[in-house]
Amino acid sequence: MTDESIQQQMDELIHLLERYNREYYELDEPSVSDAEYDQAFRHLQQLEAQHPHLMRPVSPTQRVGGKALSQFDSVVHQVPMLSLNNAFSPVNVDGVYDHAEMLAFAERVRSGLGHDPEYFIEPKFDGLALSLVYENGVLLQAATRGDGTEGENVTNNVKTIRCIPLHLNTPNPPARLEVRGEVLMFKADFDALNERQAAEGGKAFANPRNAAAGSLRQLDAKVTAKRSLRFFAYSIAQLDETYAQATHGLELDLLASWGIPTPPRDCCLQSHDMAEINRFYEQMAIKRPELPFDIDGMVIKVNAIAEQNILGFVSRAPRFAIAHKFPAEEAPTLVEAIDVQI
Ligand code: NAD
Repeated sequence: MTDESIQQQMDELIHLLERYNREYYELDEPSVSDAEYDQAFRHLQQLEAQHPHLMRPVSPTQRVGGKALSQFDSVVHQVPMLSLNNAFSPVNVDGVYDHAEMLAFAERVRSGLGHDPEYFIEPKFDGLALSLVYENGVLLQAATRGDGTEGENVTNNVKTIRCIPLHLNTPNPPARLEVRGEVLMFKADFDALNERQAAEGGKAFANPRNAAAGSLRQLDAKVTAKRSLRFFAYSIAQLDETYAQATHGLELDLLASWGIPTPPRDCCLQSHDMAEINRFYEQMAIKRPELPFDIDGMVIKVNAIAEQNILGFVSRAPRFAIAHKFPAEEAPTLVEAIDVQI
């Protein structure tokens, strides 16, 4: 193949992914499944790795998310909101997983640190990322991720989400705290919302993630208030030095003690052992349909903050964490898909 034809193939993939990103992040109306998107994304990543001289600096593999909607005031993130690199584990016909990509991640971490660290494993919530800023214990600002640098100011809407405290539950709040987490709609609330939409002649949402994104990015906060959104925190982006914690697990404990919802601990694991971590992932893949909320994988993070800092970041994602994605859930049959739209 000539450079020209490879470049053409890459440009077509870029064009396609840009359209998918617009539909997913800006319009909340994806036209393809996540698995289909991930396949095109990986294909482009592979071509870029094989032909680095042909890589476009504007490639979607180098950027995060989509543009912030102009209807909202924009917020510039003091600490960029990044994405995560993905690992996939194909399953064979006997149900045996191939965890080669996870082993490669562990190997990269080992060579970066010189040893195998402890990991913290938690669900990869299938919602949308949110930044919450508290000053002197009071919720001051809430913003979406947007393109990672600039997001949408959704403070008024977020103030209607009941599980997000307006004040931190402590007599000694930090001067500044920025928490990152995921806004979700629970499956039962999603079903009830779609029934209501059908009764009122409104449009049905494709899945809880789209319902959460559409509900959070409403111009009228009264609409958001009726939509039963939830939130789970998964990291601290800014906090006064005096409150600094040694590990990710301790950071989550601190946030929970201040009244901020954190990932349910029966869905989390701390371990040094990649075989145990991969077994936990397999168990969570089985448990997934019974959970009250959608998850699309597990996130594996180096637990010690000092070790996270040593590993640092590469372009759009941290080196100290990986999203271990679950295989695609079965696509709905045509009959089910038609049912949803009626
Ligand atoms: P991502 O969803 O693969 O991973 C990063 C995000 O995971 C973070 O921004 C955060 O919001 C979230 N997250 C959930 N739980 C977390 C946890 N415990 N710790 C840390 N982060 C956590 O990356 P992305 O860049 O947001 O989106 C890419 C993915 O979105 C694709 O892989 C695809 O699945 C989907 N997508 C689909 C379409 C489509 O058309 N169907 C289009 C664009 C993106």
